[in-house]
Amino acid sequence: MNKKISRLRGMYDVLPDESWIWQRIEHIVEETFQSYSYQQIRFPIVEKTQLFHTTIGEATDVVEKEMFSFQSRSGNSISLRPEGTAGCVRAVIQNQLCNRGATQKLWYIGPMFRYERPQKGRNRQFTQIGAEYFNVESAHADAELILMTARLWKNLGLPNIQLEINSLGTSQSRKAYREVLIAYFQQHSELLDEDAQRRLLTNPLRILDSKNPNMKEMINNAPLLSDYLDDESKEHFQQLKSILDACKISYKINPKLVRGLDYYSKTVFEWITTDLGSQGTICGGGRYDSLVELQGGKPTPAVGFAMGVDRIVEIIKDLKLWQNNNESKTYLIVDKEVAMETAYELSEKIHQALPQLRLFMNQSPTSFKAQFKKADKMGAQFAIIVGQEEAKSGKITLKYLRNKEIGQQSFEFAEFVSFMNKQQ
Ligand code: ATP
Ligand code: MG
Repeated sequence: MNKKISRLRGMYDVLPDESWIWQRIEHIVEETFQSYSYQQIRFPIVEKTQLFHTTIGEATDVVEKEMFSFQSRSGNSISLRPEGTAGCVRAVIQNQLCNRGATQKLWYIGPMFRYERPQKGRNRQFTQIGAEYFNVESAHADAELILMTARLWKNLGLPNIQLEINSLGTSQSRKAYREVLIAYFQQHSELLDEDAQRRLLTNPLRILDSKNPNMKEMINNAPLLSDYLDDESKEHFQQLKSILDACKISYKINPKLVRGLDYYSKTVFEWITTDLGSQGTICGGGRYDSLVELQGGKPTPAVGFAMGVDRIVEIIKDLKLWQNNNESKTYLIVDKEVAMETAYELSEKIHQALPQLRLFMNQSPTSFKAQFKKADKMGAQFAIIVGQEEAKSGKITLKYLRNKEIGQQSFEFAEFVSFMNKQQ
């Protein structure tokens, strides 16, 4: 016997007892983003490795440790996408979507891949939904994205999600802060762990994001970026806050929020839930005004976010927020003596007349009793019985499985259709 082949570590199958949650999330996301006039963009799962190195930054966790990279048959290094912004920006440039100052409000959904240590809320293949707003420099764009995510939490019915915001300033103002920060960390070099030492000169801001408890106090006492912001960045941040205030979106200003990727400037934000333990960030985003240019496009200010769908599914499951109503509503019970051709003719006639009806048809009919049992177990509300009588007359016998008092009723086909339409 062959040995069973199992799935890769950190990658999961979404089974029917959970796939309905994913489907409903996707549906609600689509409706919500559409209601803000964002259009979907789809781009490849695999890109040239160089794209991610340039975009995300060499001294980041994602590029240093987490990429799934391999050689293509022609010997080029290619990678599974670890996030969506890099590919989205590439697609926008390559397809000239922002030429002549055109703005774009785009969103995407799809699998991302990161070689991380698997744990709750941290998978090697996971799904992100993201949005990117191109070519508006003011914080009005940042505000719209944050309001749209807040609307999404409402539409999904997710409780206990808090917004944290910060400003990383323009790259000029960050330069001044960078020097001060490097000097501060050098004064405390004995406390820096290996990652921090490596990043001291390449990416000192990332050290602020460290989760190492031994560095916590030293990081807490570090100089604050907010003291080094230039007027332009301060004004931009103020604009964002005043729109959030006007729309009664509460937020916490977290001066240590720097986000894990290199490309951000000015606004950064995260939505954090208290319902998931340590993997509590369900959505993160920010402004990346220099990224399009960095990838070789014309200067195009932009802002975006990405949310982890796997973590949202966890919350919905853990808190039992939703009930599955995707199950079959109606079970077609066929008498063993009735020709399958007749049963199929009827079921196709039903699908034609009632396209929304979820009808389960048993392809290997057993006894009536066994079929009723299955229908019951499935949670069906109605059974349509196709006995020899019905096969001859063309009438429909409907049995109420959840209401013993009404029991069973016989209908002409047209009556049956209008009855079922009223049920849905
Ligand atoms: P974290 O600090 O949790 O590692 P991150 O900063 O690496 O997050 P982003 O790159 O900003 O995350 O991705 C946005 C969102 O995607 C995260 O907030 C999270 O919800 C989700 N996400 C990121 N990595 C994973 C993963 N390995 N498994 C599941 N979801 C993930
Ligand atoms: Mg990460």
